[in-house]
Amino acid sequence: MHYTGTVWRPPYETSSLLLEVTAGCTHHKCKFCTLYDDIPFQFRMSSLEDIEADLIEARGQFPLWNNYKVERTFLTGANPFVLKAEWLLKIAELIKKYFCKNKTIGCFSRITDITLKTDLELEQLRKAGYDGLTIGIETGDNEALKFMNKGYLSKDITEQCMRLERAGISYSFFYLAGISGKGHGEEGARATAKICNQLHPKLVGANMLTIYPQSELYKEIRKGNWKAEEEIEKYKEIRTLVKELRIATAFGALGASNAVPIWGRLPEDTEKILSILEKIINNVSEEELEKYRKNLPHL
Ligand code: SF4
Repeated sequence: MHYTGTVWRPPYETSSLLLEVTAGCTHHKCKFCTLYDDIPFQFRMSSLEDIEADLIEARGQFPLWNNYKVERTFLTGANPFVLKAEWLLKIAELIKKYFCKNKTIGCFSRITDITLKTDLELEQLRKAGYDGLTIGIETGDNEALKFMNKGYLSKDITEQCMRLERAGISYSFFYLAGISGKGHGEEGARATAKICNQLHPKLVGANMLTIYPQSELYKEIRKGNWKAEEEIEKYKEIRTLVKELRIATAFGALGASNAVPIWGRLPEDTEKILSILEKIINNVSEEELEKYRKNLPHL
C-alpha cells in the first residue's frame, strides 16, 4: 500500500479500509500542528494508478467472501476533501469497482475544503457515498482561530456545516482543549458550544493541546506572545463544553492526547461525563497530568 509517513485516522475509523489519496496538508499553517512534519513535502495527491493499485492489493488481502465486509473506506491525508469533486467522484468509482459492497467514504476535511464545492457537487458527492467527514474545527473562539492561523472563523464553521447538512453529508467535530490559552479555556468552550448548538455533528470529540518544540506555537511561547493553559484548566474547559452543549450527539475524548478516555451520548450521559471530569479536577494533581503530557512522544 502506498502509505506515506504516519497514517492518522479518527479512533472510530478503526475498521474502515484506509486508502491513501493525499499525503500532507494543503494548509500546513496551524501554529500548534506537527502532525505531518514527518513527510518531505507539504501536500501531494496520489495518482489514480496508485489508488487503483492499492485497491487491488487490499482486495488481494482478503478471501473473496471477505471483500463483502468492506463497507466503509477512509481516505487518508490531512484534508482529502480539498480535492476537486470530479476527482473525488473518480475515487468513489474505483472503490466501488473493487469493493462493491462499500457503502460510505469518509475522510478529514478542513472547513475551507467545503467552501470550494458547489451545493450541487456536495449532493453528487453524497450520492457517490461521501458521508461521515471528520472536521478538526478545534474551537469556535475567533481570537484563538486567528492566532493559531486556522484559516477560517466561527461563522465559516456554521455556514459550511449547514451546507453539508443540506446535502445530507454527516460529520463529526474535533475540539482542541487548550487552544484558547491560559485564562481563556472556558470562554473558548462556551464559544464552541454556541457553534455546535446550531448544528448537528454526529460526535464532538475532544483532544488536548500538546505543544512540541518544533511547532510555531512553541516559538510564540518562547517569545512571550502566548501562555499555555495548565492541565486542570483544560479539564475545566471540557467540563464547560459538555455543560453548554444542548444538542443530541456523541461526546468522546478518546485520542492519545487525553490521559483519561471518556465516551458517552449527550444528553443521556451528560451527568456521568461531568462526574468523571469533576473527579479528575478535584482528585488528580496538575503534576500527574503534566507528567502524562510530557511523556507523549507524539499524538
Ligand atoms: S491542524 Fe489540520 S489543517 Fe492545520 S496544519 Fe495541521 S493538519 Fe493542516
